[in-house]
Formats: sequence, C-alpha cells, structure tokens
Amino acid sequence: MVDPDGRIVVLVVEDEASYVDALSIGLSADGFVVEAATTLAEARRLFVARKPDVVLLDVMLPDGNGTEFCREVTATSSIPVMMVTARSEEVDVVLGLELGAADYITKPYRLRELGARIRAVLRRSAAPPVDVHITVGAIRIDSTRRSVTRGGEELEMSRKEFDLLVMLASRLGQVVTRDECLDELWWGSDLTDSRTLDTHIKRLRQKIEVDPGQPAHLITIRGVGFRLDP
Ligand code: CA
Repeated sequence: MVDPDGRIVVLVVEDEASYVDALSIGLSADGFVVEAATTLAEARRLFVARKPDVVLLDVMLPDGNGTEFCREVTATSSIPVMMVTARSEEVDVVLGLELGAADYITKPYRLRELGARIRAVLRRSAAPPVDVHITVGAIRIDSTRRSVTRGGEELEMSRKEFDLLVMLASRLGQVVTRDECLDELWWGSDLTDSRTLDTHIKRLRQKIEVDPGQPAHLITIRGVGFRLDP
C-alpha cells in the first residue's frame, strides 16, 4: 500500500544493524517509507500489517532462510520481492531455486543504485503482461494463461524458462542476443553467470524439441545468441 503521502513502502528484512540503519536513512532520503524487520517472524507480521509495495529480503536471517519468505510472498501476492545476497555464490542459489524473486542484489551495494532498482522493479511489476499466442511447430504458447503445450500436451515450465520462451517467440525467426536475454530476464547484472542462461536454454530444448540434440526450433547462434524458428 502506498502510504497516505503517495510514497512507496519498502519492507526491509535484514538482520545486520549497519545495513538496516544505512537503508532506513538512505531510502527515506530517496523518498521511500522504510519498514524494517530483523527476523522472518517480524517480516511476516509487518507484511500483513503494513502491506508494503516491495520487499527487500536478505537471505541469511537469524530464524531461517529468506528464500522461504520469498516463496510465501510470491505464491500469495503480486508484491515484488528483491533478494539481497551477501555472497555472489548465493546468486546461483537464488536463481536456481526459481523463487519468483523480481530482482536480486549483492552486498555491498550502493544506495543510489538500490533506489533506482526498486523503482525499476515496481515499473516492471505494474506493466500489463504482453498477450502472446504463438504456434511453433507442434508447440503452442499462451502467455495470458502462462501455458505451453506440445501436441496438445501441457509442458511444465519454470517461470524463467517460460519468460525466456516468450521472449524468443515474440521475435520469431529473429536472433535474440545473449545480452538481451540477460538484460530482460536477469536484469543485466554482471553477477549473472551466463552459464545460467545456457542451462535454461538446454532445459527449454529438452522440453520443446523432439530431439534436443538436433534442435529444429531453438537454434543457438554461436557467440551471438538464440533464434526460435517456426
Ligand atoms: Ca543476514
């Protein structure tokens, strides 16, 4: 809920006092209203009581792992969650778990950058979904229902796999560069291991191709990017 003065309410879940102080001062100066929780229990309480617009969530917390709360929030609301990780190795964990986080950020971060990223996340989450119905061979993609079928049979897709497929399908027959994929799906963070992208492409191929070793649709353009052929 935007507060009565129209400011964005950020729920900061963070147990390191120095970060909490810096965030409270920095984000307040940047025009945000900050609600701080130092434990998951407090975060759950404040989430209900204060209805934040966005959650900034640390991974390692005294009473558990932030990823649990991320799952709860994304499963039950459309409020975007930004995961904060202390080490870059945790980025792989956060991405690998397909938590539905809207962004992730690694410590140490610059407060100015953080404010811009929070606003970008809110813009993205407010954008209406693009309506795409595309047929690629026996594959049918329905972006409104977020469903993919092959020969009428529903395919299970992770959120990122689906978004990647829609991105490629919306530019059918055209090359989409690796950078474009990373920008769109992993927000261009230089911390993203680009192998993560290859892993998603591989998994997508296993699902949509009849012979993943000889892809007929999802083509790799070496050193450039990918193309989805009709
Ligand atoms: Ca922590």
